[in-house]
Amino acid sequence: MNRDAVDEFRQRLQQARQELLRTVARTDEELATLEAHQPGAPGEDVGTEVVSAILSRLEGQEKHALDEIDAAQARLAAGTYGACEDCRQAIPLTRLRAVPTARSCVACQRKHET
Ligand SMILES: [Zn+2]
Repeated sequence: MNRDAVDEFRQRLQQARQELLRTVARTDEELATLEAHQPGAPGEDVGTEVVSAILSRLEGQEKHALDEIDAAQARLAAGTYGACEDCRQAIPLTRLRAVPTARSCVACQRKHET
């Protein structure tokens, strides 16, 4: 995956994360803290406690969606983003644009589902 694509998906994932968090923030202050919070930032993060309190409100599918976004961001940071976890082939960008948290290509996904 080239640099432009990495930047593109970093932004897409960040945006997906913000949208998800926006649904659980109850005040503008909480929202501001969430938006200032950078996951994985080194050192003490003053927003961490507030952020984890807000994140604890996420349930079920939303929690799962956030976990998937976190995992995708970790893969992006590790340089493994966009490679199918099963066959190791590059996942087409069109699929990643539709599902930025996709872990596998369509063919492998189908195998899992059947
Ligand atoms: Zn595959």
